[in-house]
Amino acid sequence: MAVSVIAATFAVTSAFMLPQNPAERIRLGEPVKITAEVMPATAQNTLYFENKYEIVTPFQTLTIEDDTMFLGDTVVATEGVDGVRQITERIGFRGGEEVYRAAIASTVLVEAIDKVILVGTNPAPRTTSYGEYHWPAEGKLESGFGRRSVAIGSRNHQGLDITGDKGDPIYAADGGVVITADSKMSGYGNLVRILHDNGDVTYYAHNSELLVAEGDLVYRGQQIAEMGRTGTASGIHCHFELRIDEVPVDPIGYLPER
Ligand SMILES: [Zn+2]
Repeated sequence: MAVSVIAATFAVTSAFMLPQNPAERIRLGEPVKITAEVMPATAQNTLYFENKYEIVTPFQTLTIEDDTMFLGDTVVATEGVDGVRQITERIGFRGGEEVYRAAIASTVLVEAIDKVILVGTNPAPRTTSYGEYHWPAEGKLESGFGRRSVAIGSRNHQGLDITGDKGDPIYAADGGVVITADSKMSGYGNLVRILHDNGDVTYYAHNSELLVAEGDLVYRGQQIAEMGRTGTASGIHCHFELRIDEVPVDPIGYLPER
């Protein structure tokens, strides 16, 4: 606020104020100094003046539980906005000395808006896709992704082969919905395909037994089949594929090290 404006408020000229208020402008909230000389007060009379200044009232942050959201998820529903409050204080001078100062009014100029954070409380369903994959079988990695020279099966290997014994458990690498549980795809034998929430599809081929059916919701780590050698397979193993946008990718980049 310009000194001249404040001077006008106090019915004095700027010249009386400037020596004690060297800044051309006085910031909000800063007390105003007025020289004793401008006070026509006698030692007996108290003169009162009003001084207004603004203060910021910081917004509060509220968290609200929301059972329509999954546990661990948070959403900012409302951004916080600081408020502004104008304080009017009454200042009394006697004989040039300040003898009285009290706030006499408080006016909200800008209402503070609370920040609201919604916090999910609904436990995620077990079939949820995490977007992170677990190994579908415990056995040794026998054959990796990519080109290879083999007597049986594809020369451009579109997945991983994990060996084991017949009947070993095959697990869903992540939660999702079973979109295939049959032996209709040539070469794959008894095949399970799972569609995950992010659109990725995983393949589990050559099983001896299928333990799920098309349409089943499965959770990560759920046993979905037993290892076998059905279809075109060089031995007992799980042929595992990960397809992103329908294109097979090397699952190694998406599986934890072991
Ligand atoms: Zn394979």
